[in-house]
Amino acid sequence: MASELEPEVPAIDQSLLECSAEETAGKWLQSTDLTREVYQHLAHYVPKIYCRGPNPFPQKEDMLAQHVLLGPLEWYLCGEDPAFGFPKLERANKPSHLCGRVFKVGEPTYSCRDCAVDPTCVLCMECFLGSIHRDHRYRMTTSGGGGFCDCGDTEAWKEGPYCEKHELHTSETEEEEDPLVHLPEDVIARTYSTFAIMFHYAVEILTWEKESELPADLEMVEKSDTYYCMLFNDEVHTYEQVIYTLQKAVNCTQKEAIGFATTVDRDGRRSVRYGDFQYCEQAKSVIVRNTSRQTKPLKVQVMHSSIVAHQNFGLKLLSWLGSIIGYSDGLRRILCQVGLQEGPDGENSSLVDRLMLNDSKLWKGARSVYHQLFMSSLLMDLKYKKLFAVRFAKNYERLQSDYVTDDHDREFSVADLSVQIFTVPSLARMLITEENLLTIIIKTFMDHLRHRDAQGRFQFERYTALQAFKFRRVQSLILDLKYVLISKPTEWSDGLRQKFLEGFDAFLELLKCMQGMDPITRQVGQHVEMEPEWEAAFTLQMKLTHVISMMQDWCALDEKVLIEAYKKCLAVLMQCHGGFTDGEQPITLSICGHSVETIRYCVSQEKVSIHLPVSRLLAGLHVLLSKSEVAYKFPELLPLSELSPPMLIEHPLRCLVLCAQVHAGMWRRNGFSLVNQIYYYHNVKCRREMFDKDIIMLQTGVSMMDPNHFLMIMLSRFELYQIFSTPDYGKRLASEITHKDVVQQNNTLIEEMLYLIIMLVGERVTPGVGQVNATDEIKREIIHQLSIKPMAHSELVKSLPEDENKETGMERVIEAVAHFKKPGLTGKGMYELKPECVKEFNLYFYHFSRAEQSKAEEAQRKLKRQNREDTALPPPILPPFCPLFASLVNILQCDVMLCIMRTVLQWAVEHTGYAWSESMLQRVLHLIGMALQEEKQHLENVMEEHVVTFTFTQKISKPGEAPNNSPSILAMLETLQNAPYLEVHKDMIRWILKTFNAIKKMRENSSTSPVAETEEAITEESSRDKDKAERKRKAEIARLRREKVMAQMSEMQRHFIDENRELFQQTLGLEASSSAVLDNSPMVSDVTLTALGPAQTQVPKQRQFVTCILCQEEQEVKVESKAMVLAAFVQRSTVLSKNRSKGIQDPEKYDPLFMHPDLSCGTHTGSCGHIMHAHCWQRYFDSVQAKEQRRQQRLRLHTSYDVENGEFLCPLCECLSNTVIPLLLPPRDIFNNRLNFSDQPNLTQWIRTVSQQIKALQILRKEESIPNIASSKNSKNTDKLQLPEGFRPDFHPKNPYSDSIKEMLTTFGTAIYKVGLKVHPNEEDPRVPVMCWGSCAYTIQSIERILSDDDKPLFGPLPCRLDDCLRSLTRFAAAHWTVALLSVVQGHFCKLFASLVPDDSYGDLPCILDIDMFHLLVGLVLAFPALHCQDFSGISLGTGDLHIFHLVTMAHIIQILLTSCTEANGMDQETPAGEEELAVLALYKTLRQCTGSVLKETPSGWHLWRSVRAGLAPFLKCSALFFHYLSGVPAPPEMQVSGTRHFEQLCNYLSLPNNLISLFQENSEITKVLIESWCQNSEVKRYLNGERDAISYPRESNKLIGLPEDYSSLINQASNFSCPKSGGDKSRAPTLCLVCGTLLCSQSYCCQTELEGEDVGACTAHTYSCGSGVGIFLRVRECQVLFLAGKTKGCFYSPPYLDDYGETDQGLRRGNPLHLCKERFKKIQKLWHQHSITEEIGHAQEANQTLVGVDWQHL
Ligand SMILES: [Zn+2]
Ligand SMILES: [Zn+2]
Ligand SMILES: [Zn+2]
Ligand SMILES: [Zn+2]
Ligand SMILES: [Zn+2]
Ligand SMILES: [Zn+2]
Ligand SMILES: [Zn+2]
Repeated sequence: MASELEPEVPAIDQSLLECSAEETAGKWLQSTDLTREVYQHLAHYVPKIYCRGPNPFPQKEDMLAQHVLLGPLEWYLCGEDPAFGFPKLERANKPSHLCGRVFKVGEPTYSCRDCAVDPTCVLCMECFLGSIHRDHRYRMTTSGGGGFCDCGDTEAWKEGPYCEKHELHTSETEEEEDPLVHLPEDVIARTYSTFAIMFHYAVEILTWEKESELPADLEMVEKSDTYYCMLFNDEVHTYEQVIYTLQKAVNCTQKEAIGFATTVDRDGRRSVRYGDFQYCEQAKSVIVRNTSRQTKPLKVQVMHSSIVAHQNFGLKLLSWLGSIIGYSDGLRRILCQVGLQEGPDGENSSLVDRLMLNDSKLWKGARSVYHQLFMSSLLMDLKYKKLFAVRFAKNYERLQSDYVTDDHDREFSVADLSVQIFTVPSLARMLITEENLLTIIIKTFMDHLRHRDAQGRFQFERYTALQAFKFRRVQSLILDLKYVLISKPTEWSDGLRQKFLEGFDAFLELLKCMQGMDPITRQVGQHVEMEPEWEAAFTLQMKLTHVISMMQDWCALDEKVLIEAYKKCLAVLMQCHGGFTDGEQPITLSICGHSVETIRYCVSQEKVSIHLPVSRLLAGLHVLLSKSEVAYKFPELLPLSELSPPMLIEHPLRCLVLCAQVHAGMWRRNGFSLVNQIYYYHNVKCRREMFDKDIIMLQTGVSMMDPNHFLMIMLSRFELYQIFSTPDYGKRLASEITHKDVVQQNNTLIEEMLYLIIMLVGERVTPGVGQVNATDEIKREIIHQLSIKPMAHSELVKSLPEDENKETGMERVIEAVAHFKKPGLTGKGMYELKPECVKEFNLYFYHFSRAEQSKAEEAQRKLKRQNREDTALPPPILPPFCPLFASLVNILQCDVMLCIMRTVLQWAVEHTGYAWSESMLQRVLHLIGMALQEEKQHLENVMEEHVVTFTFTQKISKPGEAPNNSPSILAMLETLQNAPYLEVHKDMIRWILKTFNAIKKMRENSSTSPVAETEEAITEESSRDKDKAERKRKAEIARLRREKVMAQMSEMQRHFIDENRELFQQTLGLEASSSAVLDNSPMVSDVTLTALGPAQTQVPKQRQFVTCILCQEEQEVKVESKAMVLAAFVQRSTVLSKNRSKGIQDPEKYDPLFMHPDLSCGTHTGSCGHIMHAHCWQRYFDSVQAKEQRRQQRLRLHTSYDVENGEFLCPLCECLSNTVIPLLLPPRDIFNNRLNFSDQPNLTQWIRTVSQQIKALQILRKEESIPNIASSKNSKNTDKLQLPEGFRPDFHPKNPYSDSIKEMLTTFGTAIYKVGLKVHPNEEDPRVPVMCWGSCAYTIQSIERILSDDDKPLFGPLPCRLDDCLRSLTRFAAAHWTVALLSVVQGHFCKLFASLVPDDSYGDLPCILDIDMFHLLVGLVLAFPALHCQDFSGISLGTGDLHIFHLVTMAHIIQILLTSCTEANGMDQETPAGEEELAVLALYKTLRQCTGSVLKETPSGWHLWRSVRAGLAPFLKCSALFFHYLSGVPAPPEMQVSGTRHFEQLCNYLSLPNNLISLFQENSEITKVLIESWCQNSEVKRYLNGERDAISYPRESNKLIGLPEDYSSLINQASNFSCPKSGGDKSRAPTLCLVCGTLLCSQSYCCQTELEGEDVGACTAHTYSCGSGVGIFLRVRECQVLFLAGKTKGCFYSPPYLDDYGETDQGLRRGNPLHLCKERFKKIQKLWHQHSITEEIGHAQEANQTLVGVDWQHL
């Protein structure tokens, strides 16, 4: 390895340390040729400091560079010690008001949607919080790095440009002042020369291209043979390729290779080998050879170490310059001057130019350093920003070309600075006027798009991958165009006009290349062989959409410009036309006596293109003209006379016909490419400059020509002319049954054509077309979206077109048209349409897709039915057209239109003879409705003297001309009204007739005043329809009832799992099912209920029957029957942990007998409560296992459960399970037959008896272990021992359970042992029973915590599954000893007992401070039967339970008193000392005596009693639950409801005196001894002396960490977080552990660690230390919650942050401000407390199989 050539850390050259900055600077001050002096200094020292070995030592290098190289410069510059000089400069400085903070990757940035000039204007967090915008509508994003804060830039903000910090002081004026006046003359001079020399040096060395030769003035005398093999970054090779190649080429480990690759990716280059030239050259050739197969090879250079050294210093120098100019704006200005000063070579020779022009040759790291310097210097100085902008514009073409051929991302290119320059309105304007920027950008763009066809149009067919790549990069130029146009000029100079129009010309050239591109021809016969390329053309169109709109916006601002642009556009359109009309022959069309000349052209036979940007731009400009005043005042200025309407409509019409034909299925053989194009043509992203403009163009055409002519041309283009011009053509068509397809096709085409006419007349809610404003337009869009269904904010935004500022304008109007409904715990907030807006609904709204249209129709009809209205959906009342479009309405009443209407109605009347469709009729009815609305409007708004020329009603009353005397339209409608086959349309026809009558009335009364509907008409109508209405109402009621029943049915049919899942989510929350409330223990009369001891309430025996979910057989739970089991999931848990750093270190040696009170690692058991036969489950599990094995052989598919670990899904509810719990009867009933309450021992006696029994056992045990001696001394020992009365240690009770139950006891016990300790299963291990008791205790504790946290009553309604789980778990734990070795259980009991009652035979017992008393209690109670079963003295088991409980309770009280930190402060006792208080005070005194008065001075009895009660409560509650499930004694009813405090009831239920302290007084004999023994323990003493800590009581519940209200502060926190492993690098996926608050560097190579032999990501590794395998994280950049369990399981969960519209923003794409939703966060916490994370993951993975494949372990 290379490192062997030199020691790792080369020693520091002593001469370097001796170098004095002051002396050097002094020498320079004397010097006449400063440049030479400095260069000599650098030439000598730089190679001595930098690049001394294979690996860089940045700290050391920087330290030395500061000392030897930069220090002298600073001295020289200041003329004194820089420690004084710089602060002086800083004080004299008048800082500018620009913030200019350069953003780090991932840092939050804010843009005000109300005040930012464009969305690129952003603020840093600090400025934002101090600005007025925090109360505005803002957007938040995370920066991708680069870019800076625009605070203080008056051009960036319409309002509030300054934050509090950067605000102008009142005395200051904004006018520019030369910052140099604040600097002393001599400093200016020295700064100038220093900057000039150093900047020049840096530029020269960074752009130096030779590999082993330095610039002459830096060349060294003696040159060592030390080289670097330098690897450069490219975007072609992947990480993996680079790592693999490096391992091969330089023979390094994978870890080193990863390190190299990471640095190369970050900095752009890294030396991978150091040594002599040969050595490096060899590595280079291997790398090149290995990477050159498919692509171009990785770039590698062998460079002399001194060159690398100078380059590294060059970079350092640039950063240094950046920091020096921070001291003073004057210094900054000097640097700008130096940088922009033209060099000796003239044009483009300034240092800034040189850097820019070499940009693409520099490596990433160098680029970002100098870009940053530019940003903090040139872009921060208002004067030089302008000069720099000019340089940038002059070099624009070259810079962009470099960028296009380079392969680095745009953010690493100097071309990316365009956003900083072009978005400044004044600069953009200046560059347009003086540098002709618009034209330059467009021309540059066109230069790079060279694929053209014969007509000069763009052609993307068959373009290569390289061209595609280039095309992608060229698109960024469109972005530049957008930046330049984004802020519109407020005033126009002649220069601006001229240059803008010049740019407009160029733009038209561009559009001309697009007009007609990608033409298509209908494929007949065969399907297309290859899908033609279409995406490139659409990408171009899509990217240009906003630019096209903005061009129009600019034109709209100035009439002169508008008219010029209009003329230019028209001219270009005519040029385009000239190109493609050849060969089209003229024909004549005539209908109803009208005739028109047109050309013969069939969309279905000839070429047609969907791309018509020139026509569409003209349409846009036409609308603008229509809006402007010129159109009325000086129409002669407009080139309207040059317009040829047929020419204007031709191409848009073809395009719309194409859509209709595609819809009619005529283009099926052209494949998906066409379908996609049609889709995007209508899509919200494109339609504004495509479909919408085509409609406008047709509207323009119609308004300028005879509507009859228009309709005939239209019929001809739709290829329907024949049908409507030939009488009875339809009949003929229908009779030719041979062509069913053709009939269908024609029907659809007719429908489509009618739809188009509806749109042409109806779509006038566009400013300029109709007399409306922009607000009306957006309102109408929203109304129609919400007519489909209520929508969330984001859904609505997606359906509306965005402008160039990403705004839809929705917020301005939404309140007016919709109500907001807030979200619940899940789901989103929704907008619902206001009822008063329903009348504006138009069924034929042009932006509806087919699916949306039918959904909206259905929804609206349903709504009408609900409101008991008729279901007609008549056309809404429309605003009037603008004058330029006014004549358009005549299309509704022109002869050809009437002919079309009549024809369709005729078909419907004679409905069997013709091919027609209901949709056709529906559209005709809609058109008639529109005409009637129009006429009504005209009548209502008519001026006195005017004559209404719109006379539709008269025309439809007249009979038709041909064929002779056919009925009038009105007559046909009346006929159709009663047609049985048109039931659906009846309401609409009735509406038409009603409206017709109303208009007739209006006409009659027109001389007086317009009357709406007369009363008469209504009453007449109502009487006629009375019966009918009644019938209808009844039918409606019946229908509603039916619907309700159906809904209920389907509700019930919903899949079982779904319902259950619902239930699971309720777990412990909300109201549990009422069936669970009723404890299935029998009701006991209202005697005081007691759960343990001699007074235990007797519960009548009860038989229990259960059904197996697998075989559906019912069975009784009995001791001797076959086992029934519950599916269960056992997991390790740290939910209750008070010490997360503690884990089980060596599971093989770990002794779980005593649980530490920090509860650091417990074993939790949960169950879904589903019951199976043990054998049924066994069979089920075997089959799952077999299936999984087969599956894994075929392909390694993951599942949501891990069969190898015993996991399976509950067969009923698919809940993740890993074992089963046997169902048992209360086990105490089986052993506690000897109930004899008279004459039971008291605590003292009992302890004595038990101690004797233990002694006896221990002696016997000893003898057994030494059998030889035992045999000889047997009798003697037994004599001495004197077995306690009635104790028979030789007795072994018979196990009462059936074999099957015994097997399940062992199975479940072993499962707890295996999972809880993470060891291999071993049913004989003595720790198995301990683990069972522990899991019982831990599970009860965790449930008690949840209940307390929720303020729920202890015995309130528990969901069934929890109740079942706790019951079976407790009974199981109580029965488990029967399958364990008696001696083992006895041994556990003895040891547990000894922890409270001192016994010399154990040396390693924990002190009482280190024992969790509830775990101890459970262990003692459940182990006790093993001892008691050999006791025949007549003491009942219940007596033992009671005494054990009292003993442990006493110990706990002492534990609490010892650890309570009551301070007798402010809180004074409120009542005179009661009995309890005096007693506890006395006890405390005793304690003080026993501890030698180390205990604090006696606080008041009141305080002591309070803390004892509080500290003891959780223990008592857990005990109550435990004894309840153990004995089956129901809880007193008072404890089943919440609200009151239950301390007394608890005590009664648990057989405790209300004054707990009396326990001590009653047993004073033994108490004293015990307390003394507890306090004498050395650990207790250490604690009392303050040498160690102990847990105090009550233990607080663990909570997830506190999250900030505002999400951006989390983003900010994460942006300051750097990867802990790779020295200061920003983490790409910072992820927050919600349990402990640790930030992790997730999903990245750098932070992978090895866990159990596998590489895992930081999150997975963390779950093992923090959550024993389970983790809850927040991925900060994505705003996503991540659940992890084990290495293979995980899912994403919705984050607890919502925007103002009640929606989450996973992925942070929308950028609305996000705020913490406490309820949702609580829900996550609850999942955690309930140990449901794993289950949640299981359900998520079952629901979404793709989650299974995610590589969770690398997160
Ligand atoms: Zn700022
Ligand atoms: Zn600021
Ligand atoms: Zn604002
Ligand atoms: Zn069964
Ligand atoms: Zn289940
Ligand atoms: Zn954690
Ligand atoms: Zn990392």
